[in-house]
Amino acid sequence: MKPIYSISLIIALFLGLAFHSCEAPETEAEVPEYVIVIHGGAGTISPDVITPEQEEEYKNKLNEALEAGEAILKNGGTSIEAVAAAIIIMEDSPLFNAGKGAVFTNQLRCELDASIMEGSTLNAGAVAGVTDVKNPIKAAIAVMENSPHVMMAGDGASVFAGEQGMEMVENEYFHTQRRLDAVKRAIEQSQEDNSGTVGAAALDSYGNLAAGTSTGGMTNKMYGRIGDSPIIGAGTYANNESCAVSATGHGEYFIRHTVASDISARMLYYGQRFEDAANYVINEKLVNVGATGGVIGVDKYGNVAMPFNTPGMYRGYVKSTGEKEVAIFGE
Ligand code: ASP
Repeated sequence: MKPIYSISLIIALFLGLAFHSCEAPETEAEVPEYVIVIHGGAGTISPDVITPEQEEEYKNKLNEALEAGEAILKNGGTSIEAVAAAIIIMEDSPLFNAGKGAVFTNQLRCELDASIMEGSTLNAGAVAGVTDVKNPIKAAIAVMENSPHVMMAGDGASVFAGEQGMEMVENEYFHTQRRLDAVKRAIEQSQEDNSGTVGAAALDSYGNLAAGTSTGGMTNKMYGRIGDSPIIGAGTYANNESCAVSATGHGEYFIRHTVASDISARMLYYGQRFEDAANYVINEKLVNVGATGGVIGVDKYGNVAMPFNTPGMYRGYVKSTGEKEVAIFGE
């Protein structure tokens, strides 16, 4: 080899190694035993639109959801169980657009979507457009664990959920005055609106990642419309090789840009750090097309990211190291 070539080769190798080492994530020795991260939706949430009392109410509920997930992880439970526990607390609360308190369609009914994914196996389950399953995330888990399918919709999903022993409710169970007022305003102004979807992602002590999402969708959505939340790769994604992500935002864009799996793919194929991949997708890619929303997630090393391009996003995380945050507004 001519000397000029060997010098170039050495320089190239050196640069390659230097670049690689600054991109490299933390080592396994630093991986926390467990991590759980949650969201309660992104949107036009700012101190002008919610009172200090409401802020406290939201923070208390986010804390309750985090604590429920953490208790499971601390006692050796799985990331799927922790994600489900946190989401069920938020589905049962009228504060969020999932389960009780879900937004209304243009026909003044609630149609709910949910999904779950396991990072170790890439198994996944989802339900779409269900109107009578009290906790759609439980039905999504049943689809994953007890059916040969990944997604079930409408009446078939409800029959399956009933057979699986899920609690079934009348559609009125989900209704709240606040969401009814919101859909009436949206109908008057011919608008759709999104906010309050819930989601969680976790890393358990076995090194397994999981993510889940549950929503009523968009206020004043057309009856029958399905958003990104139940779509694996759009609203939810988990892969033990990369990260676990749950999204919230304008679903049509999140579907077109396969937001959750794009973040994982950037890590796997570009070697991007989780935080950089998530930030890029939310704050550049989606911003460039006028899409609003955010994601929360955790990578296989226990790093957390929670980027959003809206004024606020209900969010929080806790790690086995004691590190914890619950927040609503942007910095
Ligand atoms: N992504 C949800 C949907 O489009 C809405 C939301 O996250 O607020 O159905």
